[in-house]
Amino acid sequence: MPGHTVATYSFELYPPRTPAAELAVYESLGHLVAAAPEFISVTYGASGSTSEASLGVLRHLLTTSVPPMAHLTCVGWTYEDATRVIREFLDAGLTSFLALRGDPPAGSHEGDDFLGDLKSAGELVQLIHSVQSERVPFLQEAVPGFPQAARIRRGGKVTIAVAAFPNGHPRSRSVEQDLDTLLAKEAAGANLAISQLFFHADDYLRFLEQARAAGVTMRILPGIMPILSPARLHRMVQLTDERMPKQLLARLEAAATPDEQYAVGISHASELSRELLDGGVTGLHLYTFNKHQAVLSVLESVGLYSPTSTPTKEHA
Ligand code: FAD
Repeated sequence: MPGHTVATYSFELYPPRTPAAELAVYESLGHLVAAAPEFISVTYGASGSTSEASLGVLRHLLTTSVPPMAHLTCVGWTYEDATRVIREFLDAGLTSFLALRGDPPAGSHEGDDFLGDLKSAGELVQLIHSVQSERVPFLQEAVPGFPQAARIRRGGKVTIAVAAFPNGHPRSRSVEQDLDTLLAKEAAGANLAISQLFFHADDYLRFLEQARAAGVTMRILPGIMPILSPARLHRMVQLTDERMPKQLLARLEAAATPDEQYAVGISHASELSRELLDGGVTGLHLYTFNKHQAVLSVLESVGLYSPTSTPTKEHA
């Protein structure tokens, strides 16, 4: 099975909104950190609505062995807002970002002036690089044997990931537009992409092939979400504009109990992951919904993770 032994995995969390949710997140985070992922990313509410809460989780991650990745959105921001927030995150010690445009506020229409100064994620990528290189223009390295000398290196590098859409962004007119947008983001300085969730391995593998043919060279991690109930499937299809996976819906609806639905969700995400690994992907990015057990079960079933203890069960 090509790819299985070298593939990495990473997780996405969202910031807790209540004290009870905060306790639960930190409990799950302990299990996720112990699984030693490549990184854990933390989402960001468009227009900065979760800035403090996101930064809280990210600061906590900085005290662990797992590198954090900070999502940032730019919708509705002025250059000054964006620069201030980027500085704040860099000052906290963060060096890895997922640069996103963010969605317009509910109720706005095509052509509304909701964007602010930055018109796309590509412009946010450029701004993060420019704020970082202003802060740390160069590094000085000791030269062994010459205590007075210093070697100058380029300033501390940042990882800047961007979003990719295997089945097209809901507002995109064509596959070509999605590929052009991704190419533009790489040209702006992005060095990693993470995909929107999708339900069929072929959708992602076809998109990857098209992206490579179009000249995109950065790694594109597939985003995998275990769907543990019909309600969550309906919600995700509504949020992402993906086509309803009829077979998965039928399997979830046929399951008689929440435990059976859970098993269907794990089995679907595991099959999807296995097909992607067989297709040669070098990493899986798992959307956790702030719970550890489902994503760890998926990784275990494809042989990427082996638990030392069995986590307790949770439901969607
Ligand atoms: P962009 O890359 O700027 O593209 C948006 C649209 O504009 C696309 O249709 C694109 O084709 C078009 N476009 C872009 N540039 C051009 C151009 N130069 N000319 C013409 N058209 C152009 N949202 C949040 O609020 N918080 C999060 O934490 C968050 N995390 C996410 C994580 C992942 C992995 C993904 C896939 C999405 C996430 N989102 C998040 C949602 C995201 O903000 C929305 O999908 C948003 O609508 C698009 O963001 P983008 O970064 O892809 O935008």
